[in-house]
Amino acid sequence: MTTRIGVLGADGRMGRAIMRAIASRDNKSARLGAAVERPGSPALGQDAGVVAGTGAAGVIIGQGLPEKAAADVWIDFTVPAATLAAAQAAAARGVAMVVGTTGLSAPQKAELAAAAKQIPIVFAANTSVGVTVLLKLISDAARALGPGFDLEIVETHHRAKRDAPSGTALRLAEALAEATGRDLGATARYERHGDIGARSDAEIGIQSLRGGDVVGEHTIYFLGQGERVEITHRATSRDTFAHGAVRAALWVSGQPPGLYDMRDVLGFATS
Ligand code: NAD
Repeated sequence: MTTRIGVLGADGRMGRAIMRAIASRDNKSARLGAAVERPGSPALGQDAGVVAGTGAAGVIIGQGLPEKAAADVWIDFTVPAATLAAAQAAAARGVAMVVGTTGLSAPQKAELAAAAKQIPIVFAANTSVGVTVLLKLISDAARALGPGFDLEIVETHHRAKRDAPSGTALRLAEALAEATGRDLGATARYERHGDIGARSDAEIGIQSLRGGDVVGEHTIYFLGQGERVEITHRATSRDTFAHGAVRAALWVSGQPPGLYDMRDVLGFATS
């Protein structure tokens, strides 16, 4: 069976990578069903395949969300307001979704979870297989090393990235907080400047660097007395996120309603 995918944010860095990932699958499990951009986008009216660099695909980039007849599942890498509008429309039409957009506020995440009561949604700040494994590794490390180790995360991204810290860094921090029984809201430390005093045992530091064309780097530091452990993930190409998102789309279209993440898609144990 061929799953028809609607790509929202088709002319974005990720949208184009996702359309290339769909075109590169040699079996016929997925095909591009629709491609959508914001009103005013210069890509409107163009062939999506031409925009993605894969050659004419016969799908014209339009505005307004895809009809149910055009796509079985929508992949959204846009901006939070567009994601929420799409999720409500997907819930009304009974279409599954993969959401990779980051920077959603807590109320926006709650709205997404409400839509997921009606349709299956994979919501993943990072759709790479490597980061999904990293989440498990750092949870295990935090539990094994115990309270004598201070937890810090440093992330680096390209200069155009809008939100900080990255959604991936926040997800990694959540995993550390869960593994060590802390409340991230009370212990996350995003800035240090001036006479701030000594670090507390409970805090989880999250710092952001921005510049150049860095696709995405995250290092998690476990800083002890006389030793430290550093675990780093480096994404060198957006293709890793794009292939993960397409894999998630093929998986989610057959699932019952609910909010899922990449660990569900890849079948990893969640502990
Ligand atoms: P980008 O700015 O290159 O692309 C976003 C696209 O969305 C743009 O083309 C924009 O015109 C379009 N858009 C905005 N509003 C829209 C609307 N209402 N309808 C349709 N299209 C609309 O950004 P990007 O680098 O592709 O990243 C997009 C999002 O994905 C960001 O939140 C980023 O953090 C996130 N991201 C997630 C992962 C992951 O693995 N989950 C990986 C990379 C980026």
